[in-house]
Amino acid sequence: MNKNGKSFNAYFIAILILLFATFAISLMGEKDDSYTKAELVNDLKEGNVSQAVIQPNNETPTGAVRVTLKDGQIRVVYVSDVKDAETLLAQYHIDPVMKNVPKENWFISSMLPMLIVLIIGVFFFVMMNAQNAGGGGGKMANFGKSRARLSIGDGKITLKEVAGLKEEKEELEEIVEFLKEPAKFTKVGARIPKGVLLEGPPGTGKTLLAKAIAGEANVPFFSISGSDFVEMFVGVGASRVRDLFQDAKKNSPCIVFIDEIDAVARRRGTGMGGGHDEREQTLNQLLVEMDGFGVNEGIIVMAATNRVDILDPAILRPGRFDRKISVGAPDVGGREDILKLHARNKPLSDDVDLKQIAQTTAGFTGADLENLLNEAAIIAAKEDRNYIRQEDIKKAFVKVGIGSEKKSRIISDQEKKITAYHEAGHAILFHVLPDMDPVYTVSIIPTGVGAAGYTMPLPERDDMFRTKNRMKQDIMVSLGGRIAEELIFGSDDITTGASSDIKKATKVARKMVTRFGMSENIGVINYDDDDDEVFIGRDLAHTRSHSEAVAGAIDEEVKGIIDECYRKAKEKIEEHMDILHSCAALLIEKEKITRDEFEALFEKEKGDVAED
Ligand code: ADP
Ligand code: MG
Ligand code: ZN
Repeated sequence: MNKNGKSFNAYFIAILILLFATFAISLMGEKDDSYTKAELVNDLKEGNVSQAVIQPNNETPTGAVRVTLKDGQIRVVYVSDVKDAETLLAQYHIDPVMKNVPKENWFISSMLPMLIVLIIGVFFFVMMNAQNAGGGGGKMANFGKSRARLSIGDGKITLKEVAGLKEEKEELEEIVEFLKEPAKFTKVGARIPKGVLLEGPPGTGKTLLAKAIAGEANVPFFSISGSDFVEMFVGVGASRVRDLFQDAKKNSPCIVFIDEIDAVARRRGTGMGGGHDEREQTLNQLLVEMDGFGVNEGIIVMAATNRVDILDPAILRPGRFDRKISVGAPDVGGREDILKLHARNKPLSDDVDLKQIAQTTAGFTGADLENLLNEAAIIAAKEDRNYIRQEDIKKAFVKVGIGSEKKSRIISDQEKKITAYHEAGHAILFHVLPDMDPVYTVSIIPTGVGAAGYTMPLPERDDMFRTKNRMKQDIMVSLGGRIAEELIFGSDDITTGASSDIKKATKVARKMVTRFGMSENIGVINYDDDDDEVFIGRDLAHTRSHSEAVAGAIDEEVKGIIDECYRKAKEKIEEHMDILHSCAALLIEKEKITRDEFEALFEKEKGDVAED
C-alpha cells in the first residue's frame, strides 16, 4: 500500500509539471478569447469597440486583429487579409494601431529549448523513482490485484464533452439519473438495467461516453480493459474481476467499465487447442459477479466492444448486459458538432468552414475528426503560425485520409450520390408495398462492415407466417436499390454495392420454390436439403436428393420469380420518380433521415397532385 502511495505521488508530481508546462506554453501563444469575424462586425455595429490593433503575420496579408471592447475585454480575431480588416474598421470610424510584422519571439528562441530540457529531465527523474517504487517484489505481490483504474467523477468529463450522439445520450439519461439518486428509483420499485453494452466501430466515442456518464453523475468510475485481463497465468484474470467488483461494491453508486470486452467475452469453446482456459475462467467469474449483486445496489456495469457478433451469448442474457446501445459513426450534423467541440481550444482563422469540412468527411468517426484537427494544428505549427487555416485542414485531410485508408475511406460525392439513390430505392418500396413495415431510418453513413448505407424497417407486426405475396414484396424491396441505381445512372454504371441484396432476394425466391411449394410448376414438394446446419465444407459434401432435370426446373422457377419481382418493383419506383430524387437529395444533405422526414416526402407529393 505504502509503495503504491509513493508511486502515486511521483505520478502526481509528473502531472503537475506537465500541467505547468502546458500552462506556460499556452501563455506564450496568444491566448486571448478568440472571436469570430461575425462577432466583430456585430460589436462594431453596436459601437462596442473602443480600440483595435492590427498585427500582420510573417506571411502577409494574413494577421490578427486585437480589439478592446468598451467593457475592457480583449478579443482576437484571425483574418485572412489585414487590408480588409482595416477597411472594415474604418467604416465604423475605428483607427487601428498597426503593429509591425513580428520578429522572432525572444521567448521561443531562447527560453523554450531550456524549458523543454528541464521538463524532460524532471520527467525522467520522476519516472525512475516510480519504477523503483513499483519494481521488484512490489510488482509480484500486486499480481492478482485488480489493475482497474479508479477515477472519481470530478465532473471533468461530462456529457458536454461528447458531441453528437444525441439518441445514445438520451438512452443513457436514466442511468445518470439513477446513479445520482438511486433511492428515487428503488422507492417505487423501478428496475434499472445492471449492464449496458456500448457497441460500435472503433473511435466513435464509446469509452468517452462511459466516462462522461460517470462524470455527469459524479460517481466513481472503475475502468479496466479486456486486454488487461488476458494474462499469462491461469487464475489471474478471474481474481482481478473479483477484486474489481469488491472495490465497486464498497464505492457504490458507481460505474464499472470494461473496455474491449470482446477480449474476455468471446464465445466460449471456440478457441483452437489450449490457451483459452484463462479467458473462460475470467468470463465465468465476470458472469458470477454480475449475477451476484442485486439489481439496485447502485452498480452499473458498462462495457464497450466493436465486435458484438463474437461475444458469448451468455453475456447478453437478462440481468447481465440487458441494454445494448449502438454507437454509430456520426452524421453531418454530428460531425460538425464534434469538429466545433475539438476546435474549442484551437484558434481558427476566419476562413475555416467547419460545416463544409463536416460535409466532406462522411464515414469519419469522432476520433478521426479529432485527429484531423490535430494534424491541421501540427501543420500550422510547423509553419510557425499560431492559428489554423482552412488550407491546413485540407492538407491534414489528405494525410489522414490516405494514411488510414481502410479505417475511414473518404467517400467521393459520386459514391455518396449512388448510395443515396440506392437506399432511396429500397425505402420507397418499403413504403409503397402494402405488406412491408414502415421505414424507421434511412442512412448513407458507411457502417464499417462493408455496407455503404442501410434502410431500416420498423417491425410493426410480429407475423408467424409469411404469405407468398409478402415474400415477393421482400424480394422487390431487396431489388429496389439496384433498380434505382439503374434508373438514374444507366445500366453501365450500376455498382457492386447491391451484391448482398441480390443474394438475399435469390435466397428468398429459392426458398419459395424448394421449401414452401409456392411455384407454378414444381409443386408442393420439399427440395430444400439445406437444413440450416452450419459446418465447414457443407457445399463440398452436398448431396442432392433430386435429379438434374428437377434442379434445372427449380432454377428456372427462381429466375421467373426474380424477374417478375424486378419488373413490378421497377414499375413502382417509376411511379415515384419525384420522391426518388427528393429522397436522394435529402439523404445527400443529411445522410440520415427519420421516418417522419421520409414520409413527409410522400405527403408533399400528394399535396402537389391535389394542386394540379
Ligand atoms: P471508442 O471507445 O469508441 O473506440 P473513444 O471514446 O476512445 O472511442 O474516442 C476516441 C477519441 O475520439 C475521444 O477521446 C474523443 O477525443 C474523440 N471522440 C470520439 N467520439 C466523439 C464525440 N462524439 N464527441 C467528441 N469527441 C469524440
Ligand atoms: Mg474505446
Ligand atoms: Zn441495398
